[in-house]
Order: sequence, then C-alpha cells, then structure tokens
Amino acid sequence: MKRVYFFGDGRADGRAGMAEILGGKGANLAEMTRLGVPVPPGFTISTPVCAAYATGRGRLPPDVKRQALAALRRVERSMGARFGDPEAPLLVSVRSGARASMPGMLDTVLNLGLNDRSVRGLAARAGARFAYDSYRRFIQMYGDIVLGVPLERFESRLEQAKEVRGAALDTDLDAEILQTLVGEYLELVREHTGRRLPQDPLRQLWGAVGAVFRSWKNPRAATYRRLHGIPESWGTAVNVQAMVFGNMGDDCATGVAFTRDPSTGERVFFGEYLPNAQGEDVVAGLRTPQPLDRLAEEMPAAYRELVRIQARLERHYRDMQDIEFTIQQGRLWLLQTRTGKRTVQAAVRIAVDLARERRITRDEAVCRVDPASLEQLLHPALDPHAPRQVVARGLPASPGAAVGSVVFSADEAEARARTGEKVLLVRMETSPEDIHGMHAAQGILTARGGMTSHAAVVARGMGKCCVTGCGALEIDYAARCMRIGEHVVRDGDPLTVDGSSGEVILGRVPTVTPELGGAFTELMRWADRARRLRVRTNADTPQDAKVARQFGAEGIGLCRTEHMFFEPRRILAVREMILAADRAEREGALRKLLPIQRGDFAGIFRAMEGLPVTIRLLDPPLHEFLPHDGDEIRELARALGRDAAEVRAKVDAIREFNPMLGHRGCRLGISFPEIYRMQTRAIVEAACEVAESGVRVEPEIMIPLVSHVRELEVLRGHVEDEVREVLRGRRVRVRPRIGSMIEVPRAALTAGEIARFADFFSFGTNDLTQMGYALSRDDAGKFLGTYVEQGILEADPFVSIDEAGIGELVRIGVEQGRATRPELQVGICGEHGGDPRSVRFCARLGLDYVSCSPFRVPVARLAAAQAALLGEGPA
Ligand code: PEP
Ligand code: MG
Repeated sequence: MKRVYFFGDGRADGRAGMAEILGGKGANLAEMTRLGVPVPPGFTISTPVCAAYATGRGRLPPDVKRQALAALRRVERSMGARFGDPEAPLLVSVRSGARASMPGMLDTVLNLGLNDRSVRGLAARAGARFAYDSYRRFIQMYGDIVLGVPLERFESRLEQAKEVRGAALDTDLDAEILQTLVGEYLELVREHTGRRLPQDPLRQLWGAVGAVFRSWKNPRAATYRRLHGIPESWGTAVNVQAMVFGNMGDDCATGVAFTRDPSTGERVFFGEYLPNAQGEDVVAGLRTPQPLDRLAEEMPAAYRELVRIQARLERHYRDMQDIEFTIQQGRLWLLQTRTGKRTVQAAVRIAVDLARERRITRDEAVCRVDPASLEQLLHPALDPHAPRQVVARGLPASPGAAVGSVVFSADEAEARARTGEKVLLVRMETSPEDIHGMHAAQGILTARGGMTSHAAVVARGMGKCCVTGCGALEIDYAARCMRIGEHVVRDGDPLTVDGSSGEVILGRVPTVTPELGGAFTELMRWADRARRLRVRTNADTPQDAKVARQFGAEGIGLCRTEHMFFEPRRILAVREMILAADRAEREGALRKLLPIQRGDFAGIFRAMEGLPVTIRLLDPPLHEFLPHDGDEIRELARALGRDAAEVRAKVDAIREFNPMLGHRGCRLGISFPEIYRMQTRAIVEAACEVAESGVRVEPEIMIPLVSHVRELEVLRGHVEDEVREVLRGRRVRVRPRIGSMIEVPRAALTAGEIARFADFFSFGTNDLTQMGYALSRDDAGKFLGTYVEQGILEADPFVSIDEAGIGELVRIGVEQGRATRPELQVGICGEHGGDPRSVRFCARLGLDYVSCSPFRVPVARLAAAQAALLGEGPA
C-alpha cells in the first residue's frame, strides 16, 4: 500500500485534492510542485500512518520506513547532497500537516541530519556561525520535542550566553559562543535523558517522525480539535522536506504573505519577513518583522518572482492564499500555500471581489462565507465620538473592539469569564497553550509579535479583536500589573483595545454598531436571490424590529408580549391583574393594560410596515411577575392598598414546584380568558388604527404551549369572538391569522389534529428541547458543557437542534400538520432559528421561515442560501 508520496523536480505523487491522506500542507506542496513553483523536494507520510503508529505502540510500520527511504534517496539526488554526509549533509525538516489547518498545535523539527561530524562539514561550506547556530536549533527542537527535555532549560542557557556577552539578539552571538552553547546543549540532553543525542541521521529521522505523530494527541491539539470540530480519527500527515535556509546571511530571508489583506480583504499583496532568519522566528513573534515593501527594495529579483508566484497561486486555487517562503542566497523557495484565514470583513470582501473578478461564481461567493461569523460583523465597534485616552498603539491584528478587565494569564481569563466577567487577555505573546484563555476573553493584547504571530492568526480565526506587537507594554506577570508609559494597569483594571487601529485605551470606551459595507450588501443580495426559506426575527419592541429590518428581516416570527410587562410603569397594573380577587377586579386591571399594549403593537406594526408580525399571547407562569422578598411584597401591598399578609398569601399560592410544566401558556388563557381577550383586542385595535393611517399590517395571533387540540379549539373561539367584537362597525377590517406554537412534544405528535384549528404552526424549539429531552433550559448549562467535552453530545441541543430526537418531533409535526391542512404556514421561533446548522435542517424539512434575534438575521439569510445552493432544500 502506498504510504509515502514524493514531490520534487516538477513531479509529485500527490495533488491538491488529496488533503484527506496527505494533509493540507502535503497536498499543496505536491500541487505547487506540479505547477512548477520552486518547492524544496521532499515526501509526505500519509495520515493513515498516524493511527497505525498509535496502534503499533509507537513503531513505524516497516513498509513505511522502506518507502520513506526510497523517497529520501530521490530527495538526495534532487538536492545533490547525502543524508548524513559529513562533508555536505542533506538537512531536512519534519513537519506535521493535518487535513485542517491547526496553526502551531502540532510539532516540527528543523535542521535534522546534523551531528557532531557533519556540523563541521557544514561549517567549512557555509560558515561556522551558521553551522553551529543550525545545530543549536536542532538540538533544542529535537531535545524538546522528541526527547522531552524542557524547553526552558535550553532557553535559559541561551539567555545566559546572551547576558554574558551583552547580546540583545540571537544573531549577535558569534560562532565561538554558539559552539560552546552546542556543547552545553548536548550535555543537557545527556543529563536529562541519560544518553547522547542520536548521531545517526536515520535514527533522528524516525524519532522525529514518531514525535510528530504523537503530537496529534497532545492536550493543546485536543483542545483545538474540540473547539474547531476536527475529529481525532483524521490524524496528521508528516512532511519531510529538504531544508532551505533563510538564515545564511544578508542575502537570505524568510517570510509569510497573503495574496490579499487578511484583515480587510483589500486586493493587495500583503505580508512580512525577517532578513537572515528561520521561519519559526517569524511565527514566534520574538523579532518584529518588516513589511514586504522593504523586500522589494532589498531583494528586488526575488520579490518580483514572489509577486508572480502569489498571483499564480491565487488564480490556481481561486481563493486568497497564505504562503510561506524562504530566500536562500537570493533564491526564492515556497514552503507552503494554503487557503488563508481571514476576518469576517475580509471573507465577505474577498468572496465578492473574486466573483466580480469572475474567478468564482456568485453562488460560490455565497458559499464561501461562514454564516455564523457574520454576527461579529454586525457587532459594535468603538464609538468614534467618545473621548478616549490612547496610551499605546500596537499592530491591528484582528479588528473589532474589546472592552474588559485586564487579566494576565489564560487560566485566569477562563476562570473569570466563567463567572460572567468580560476580560481582556494581556500577554507578552501567546502560545498554543493559551487558546482556552483567548477563547474566553473579549480580546487579546500582546507586547510582542507581528501580524502573523500566533496571537494574530488564532484571534483572526476566532473572529476576536486582537492587538499585537505593542512594545510599550512592560508586563510584570509576578506582580500582575503592567506599565504603559507613565500609567500602571493592574489585574482587574478596565481597558479597551481597538483591533482595527491597534489602539490601547485606558478605561472603558462605549461602542456603536458599525455601518455595513457595500460588499456585505452585495453578498446578502446574492444570498437572498438563492434562498427559499424566509427569515423573520424575534423582536418585542419597535426598536428591535427596526434593527432587524435593517438586517433584512422579512417579518416578526415571535413577539413575546410579556417582555413589555416588566417596565416599571406597567408592572404594577400587571401585578394588580394577577392578584385580582375576582374576574371583575381582573378586568379592571386589564383595562389599564389595554391602551399600553395597543400602543406597543401599533409601534411594532408601523416598524414592520406590511410584513407579517406574529404576536404571542401571554406565556410565562404568573409568579415570574411577582415580588418575593418581604420588603417588596409590603411595598406592593401599599401601592395596591391591600393588606401585606393577604398579598403574601396570594404570592405563595401562585408559586409552583415545577413552573415550567405548570400554570403557563395557553393554560392561563383557559383559566383567565379575559387576559387573552384583552391582548387580542389590543392587537386588532392597533392593527386597525395603523391600517387606517395607510400602513399595511399583517397580524398573526399565536397561542403558546398548546398540548391538546381542545385547548386550541377553545381559545381560538375566544380570540375569534373578540376579533369579531372589535371589528364590528369598523370601516377598516384587519383579520389576523390565528395559529399555534408547537413546543410540547404531545402537540408535535398530535399535530394533525391541532392543524384543524391553526392557520400556522411555529415550532418553539426551546421548550420542545426542554420537554422532549427532559433538560431544564435554565439549569442544564451546568452539565451540558461536560457532555460536549466528553463527546457524549456533539453540540449543546439548546444551541443546535438535536436532529435525531427533537428534530424528529419537528418533522412529524410538519408532516402531520400539512397532511391535515396543506396550506399550513410553518416556521420556527426557538433560538435554533439563528443557528446555521439548524437553519439548514429547517430548509431540509421544507419550513416556510425561521425566526431569530435581530443580529442573527443575516446569519440565517446566508445559511438558508447555502442550504438551497448545496441542495439541502425539501426533497
Ligand atoms: C420556545 O419555547 O422555543 C419559544 C420560542 O418560546 P420561549 O423561549 O419564550 O419559551
Ligand atoms: Mg416556549
């Protein structure tokens, strides 16, 4: 079986479509080789070997070694150098390369093939400084990654050496010091492992290949996989490739570039490089790199070739590429190309530009943007008019604004965020160990590192605001504070960062919702043309309704009337209604509420101008509106002119053991029809009033928590009676549609009967999940995280619909409902309506619409379009 794939000299066994077995890096190295791009020769050990290595208890299968040796011979021929040759040794890099990019999570060993003898040969040919520096780097990486010698041990030796010589940078160390350092490093390895560093290059190679395979299972890789939904079974490939050197002198360099700006999406060749350095120096962010324009001045020929190749790669891959290159003695080599990570802004702009440039179709552009990420685009930026005290400026690595309390460690960020605190993670630089903290933080600020440092790349991937390379920060981890010029910022102090300008600002700066650019509007227009599923919004106020319309909502799918009850002006009348001793008293209180509700509804109808508006009649258990502590109860009694003990007794009587399964939803309507009748009157009077002013209205009245057809039958009767009464004698007549929420499992299973009395269904998948899964909406968060972490559940079922169980209830409900009433309008208004995966599921079931919070409306529009384009419409 073929396990090893060679690439070099314009020929390659693999190609771009083979990422599954070659990993992304290996597949693209093969593809670039085929394209005639200068790529150092090498070979890829395929991903299935990763699992074979694990089951073989850490041994490489013999056929893999055999095939690798044969490929190594071809690399030697291509480079004109032999592995282990004491005079002109071939050196190789050994790198991971999984199917999905996992930046910095897996291990890499460079300069492999050096030993005590060949380092002298290398010194004779390429200079002693270079040779001993390469050997030093190799011992450090091999020691750390393959032999488990703690990295700090090497680093502290290096720091000592620099201190003794008064050297600021590694490059200030001369050959003699480096040679001494090599001796110390070798001794360190012996001390720590009890053995010499392997001198046989082949032993080194098998050791490094094994270590890279093992790194697939390290904890940080496991965390990254969990966060990004990458299955462990994929495994990583290993790429062994001839080394080229960016650190052989001043005619050498190494860098990272993007074919378009990954922050804004602008069509400019964008990147940075370090002269006389190895690739990991750029990524580690220890030296701050230079912009590519400088390369055009310093090495014009190599730069011109790089520009030509990047354009070619982008054309070939039809997407923005992230490339790594090295220039060795003036000669350009490409080490990697991959689809570049980008901010949402950039993703939208690049997709639209590529379609306009006719590189991709509009439909492809619509499918290129991750719907969930759009939400960030709509979220606030810093208010440009707010005063701000800018105390430092770093690199604008990932846009957006972040405001939070400063924390100096990832663990602290995670712990504090868990308590609901908004935190800002401040680090010298970040490493893969910090991702959990980066995830928990509002934003990330680092003292070191460039636009392609770990912090920058990871934050952009997360869509999180990030400022890097802010040299003005003097961080003292031990004292948990930092100095920025004359200011001292301590752990817990508020700070603001602007990832679009790189500004670091003292205190909290207010934020505003940004203007959406032309590319966004264009992309959404293409998406709207492609989709069949309508998108409505869940909005309770005219203000929310207006925001949602700006985001493209095509109606309101859920207006929760009770949210209007909590305003201080109203809550007293609501409480009076609840505490009424009899019907007459209740009707008195309801009369006070009627004009208030009518005003609310009129505002919403106006804001939605002719679009459908579904208003749900009162839903929550009544005790939610009542005070519970003694003082509040006494105050309420005073306000109502009642006896406090009497009020307390009533409050106690209303309290339930299981309020979620208690006296709520339509059950209140059955007990107190006058409440639903008042609400119906308010809706219809408001609708008539607005219609009379010339604005078209389309009201829908929705009954919540129906579980039995008779409930709906009875309540529909009340609603229709009230509608008739309101319309009697009116010139303008607006007749609302009357429908049912389907949020109780029994309702889904008996939907055929319920549909007899419903003009529409709206699936309340929050309650349907709660009751269908027997998971409390309010408490399950405590343990669902563990379920997802352990892989028992793929996702939180309150976030993404459980297709097999709750989704099946929805499917049955739709099927039965439509069997009874083919024209039945069907939508969903639970939180799932804004989750892209659930939206695709709704498209497959043939729902008419999804309804979600205003900020997620564009998310749902795009997800619905992708569902249609990817053939996920109803069968
Ligand atoms: C639901 O249960 O899904 C729903 C939309 O109603 P609420 O969240 O108000 O219970
Ligand atoms: Mg509900």
